[in-house]
This record gives sequence, structure tokens and C-alpha cells, in this order.
Amino acid sequence: MTYDTYVPPGESVYECAYCGQPFSHEEYLVLHRGLEHGDELNDTQVSAFHDAYREETDELRLFRLKALALLVLLYFGFLFTYSVVT
Ligand SMILES: [Zn+2]
Repeated sequence: MTYDTYVPPGESVYECAYCGQPFSHEEYLVLHRGLEHGDELNDTQVSAFHDAYREETDELRLFRLKALALLVLLYFGFLFTYSVVT
């Protein structure tokens, strides 16, 4: 997977030591290192990647839950409004 990243001037930059790609957050760099340069990492970098990956997965799960809750709320909101109006 290849993608372009861009960090606006004046922002702090985290550059990949292997390919020089810039990232705006250290977390993104850790994730990039694990995905793109997994074979070249030492134990500390690998465990940092696993931590960041787990955190990212948890955040995604939470986001999905929130999105689902919002959909359910909208559905019953409309259903309730419909039953009151008609
Ligand atoms: Zn890289």
C-alpha cells in the first residue's frame, strides 16, 4: 500500500527513518513503520506498533458503536415522529 503524506510547514514533522515519509503525529509514524517496514524493526519499535495498532482498533470499534447508536436513535426518532403525526 502506497500513499502520499503531507505536513503543512510550521507543524512538527515525524519523518520515517527508512523511507523519509513525513507524518504529522508520532502515532502515524509508528503505524507506518509497522505496516511498511515491519521486517526491519527492533523489539521496542514492534511493541510500540502493536500498542498503537491496538489503540487504533479500539478507537475504530468505539466509533462504529457510536455510529450505530446514532442510527438507532435516528430510526426510532423518525418512527416516533411518524406515529405521533399520523
Ligand atoms: Zn517508511
